[in-house]
Amino acid sequence: MTGERQVPFFCPYCGDENLRPAGPEAGDWECGACARAFRLSFVAVSRPGHRAAGPDDSADRPPGTLAGAGS
Ligand SMILES: [Zn+2]
Repeated sequence: MTGERQVPFFCPYCGDENLRPAGPEAGDWECGACARAFRLSFVAVSRPGHRAAGPDDSADRPPGTLAGAGS
């Protein structure tokens, strides 16, 4: 998988399947239903068990730790 040609199956805005290439650039698509054009690009491979900071990380910290530190 090179990640150069990603084909969306649904419009991310309206969910329609009427998608066609929007230009010469690979990854540019436009929706025939809502007329929106968007770009699809590969960012990274997400590894299982190695998530970015999420809700679980902040839940360990008690809320309001820094509140009232200056007074
Ligand atoms: Zn659409």
